[in-house]
Amino acid sequence: MSDSFTLETSGSKGHLDITERVRAEVRRSGAKSGLCLVMVLHSTAAIVINEHDDPNIGTDIIKALDRAVPDHAGWLHDRIDDNAHAHIKAAILGPSELLPIRDGDLVLGSWQRILLLEFDGPRKRQVHVEILPGQRGR
Ligand code: ZN
Repeated sequence: MSDSFTLETSGSKGHLDITERVRAEVRRSGAKSGLCLVMVLHSTAAIVINEHDDPNIGTDIIKALDRAVPDHAGWLHDRIDDNAHAHIKAAILGPSELLPIRDGDLVLGSWQRILLLEFDGPRKRQVHVEILPGQRGR
């Protein structure tokens, strides 16, 4: 089964913990085991798995990418819509993560959360969740 949800980001760059939204989709699916694909359907945002107990980690990830990929540094795509840095950062991190499902819930380490990183906000962002159920009885 698959479904998607929409959320609104605030600020030009930022990070949101979407773990509980994804977890709700897994529970609604009824899948006891399998895989869960989480994919943001945009090319200037990314999905990562990392800690969010200290939200500064999300901010640090964005700062590190800003150092590596400065805004408006002569990127060719800036001639079109001035957001090349956002496309490059999203490409480095990637649009999706694949998580195991066990006992009807996501398998995550105690400090791991599913984060959406925004590089060209504020915008409405659509997140697709695809549940691939495992074999029966496992
Ligand atoms: Zn663009």
